[in-house]
Amino acid sequence: MYKLSALEIHHLFINKKLSAKEIAAYFLKRIKATDKDLKAFLHVLEEKALKKAAILDKKLAENKPLGKFASVPIAIKDNINIKGEISTCGSKFLSNFKAPFDATVIRLLEEEDAILIGKTNQDEFAMGSSTENSAFFPTSNPWALDCVPGGSSGGSAAAVASRICPVALGSDTGGSVRQPASLCGIVGLKPTYGRVSRYGLVAYASSLDQIGPFGHNIKDVAFTMEVIAKHCEKDSTSLKLPPETFLDNLPHNLKGVQIGIPTSFLKDLKGEVAKNLQSSIEVFKSLGAEIIEINLDILKYSIATYYILATAEASTNLARFDGIRYGTRSKKAKTLDEVFDLSRDEGFGAEVKRRIMLGTFVLSAGFQDAYYKKAQKVRTLIINSFEKAFSKCDFILMPSTTTAAFKKGEIQDPITMYLQDIFTVSVNLAGIPAISVPSGFTQDKKPLGMQLLAPVLHDVNLMKYAYAFEQAIKLDKIPPLFDKEF
Ligand code: GLN
Repeated sequence: MYKLSALEIHHLFINKKLSAKEIAAYFLKRIKATDKDLKAFLHVLEEKALKKAAILDKKLAENKPLGKFASVPIAIKDNINIKGEISTCGSKFLSNFKAPFDATVIRLLEEEDAILIGKTNQDEFAMGSSTENSAFFPTSNPWALDCVPGGSSGGSAAAVASRICPVALGSDTGGSVRQPASLCGIVGLKPTYGRVSRYGLVAYASSLDQIGPFGHNIKDVAFTMEVIAKHCEKDSTSLKLPPETFLDNLPHNLKGVQIGIPTSFLKDLKGEVAKNLQSSIEVFKSLGAEIIEINLDILKYSIATYYILATAEASTNLARFDGIRYGTRSKKAKTLDEVFDLSRDEGFGAEVKRRIMLGTFVLSAGFQDAYYKKAQKVRTLIINSFEKAFSKCDFILMPSTTTAAFKKGEIQDPITMYLQDIFTVSVNLAGIPAISVPSGFTQDKKPLGMQLLAPVLHDVNLMKYAYAFEQAIKLDKIPPLFDKEF
């Protein structure tokens, strides 16, 4: 069963070849057998999953209508609220926090009869690129257990890559779906800003945050988007658009499609990632696409811009964690000020504190114009540069990451970690959609991914381009350690 896609699992259930109970029990068993090495999950929702499976089996037996995602097990990043379940966001601050309501994506998944199987590990409050900033434990990369899965949605990516769950949700503020998808050899989509509701996603940087799906292949990601990409009244940035069909008319060639390559921005690419870009370009050419050069040199400022804006927004979003309303309160506090100070001191990890301080600094009187306002202006220039580039091409191609998965503990310096995001953060700054698709392996068998970027609201087109590429390269994508029954 671990080799099946989400779509196949769904069809086998509908056609009474597999019961929902068999499906749920199979994946729960696989999680139990592997998670001591992998550590993809913070909480496994065993009881909830089995209860839902029993309801689905009953519905099917009684010929009652079933949702379009019926019986598909899905893992959820821990910063997405499921009513009544612990939602820690990877933080000690929220280690006992039970979500009082469902995120909109959870409501939509439940309505379409998904099986919510567990909450996945992440960098604390989604701040990081390796899942090592989780307050609980790091997650391993299924291709090499001594390596990181990427981050911040590393638990979701590792769960899907190791086939302990067919699909998962993550959140992407600066690359947190695409980068771990790339390092784990799976597909990850960051939708257009506003395409998927953020209601019930614990905010990191609200103008950049977007929920996105992980899958083994494009079709499963498209399938998940058909469920979660809907307008939501409870998120003021949710786009008022009808749902789209993501799964239809997926093409096998790209005749007449123009692909932009930001050649001079990518001039420092090295080694196997550079080679992989070249071979991916050849695949696209063989599909009939035309390659053109575009100028996106402005993206060299994207890391600086992102880490000013994201930390500024984070510093205000995280002000709500005060020891009064959410999560844990310091036991040492004697005065009200101490409740705030000590609860935050004890509850937040080092990276979160660093970002709150950075964000507070760039917003402070006397520095706001020099940092925050200037970064907003550069953000506009980045948006304009993408618009100009897209006037010449249908989509842009570049690697998702600068290297394959690195070793746990290898990157200690925060700036080096921030630089991991050089190919992903500009997408969030511009609000455009982008997808990471597996594109090959390094010599030591670690996955590499290519990123396809499209104009705002071209999410469906992005799926088409990525599908043609996926079908042309046909990679065998199960990590050897997990290509077996447990
Ligand atoms: N790595 C980036 C950061 O630490 C992106 C994180 C994300 O997308 N949530 O901010």
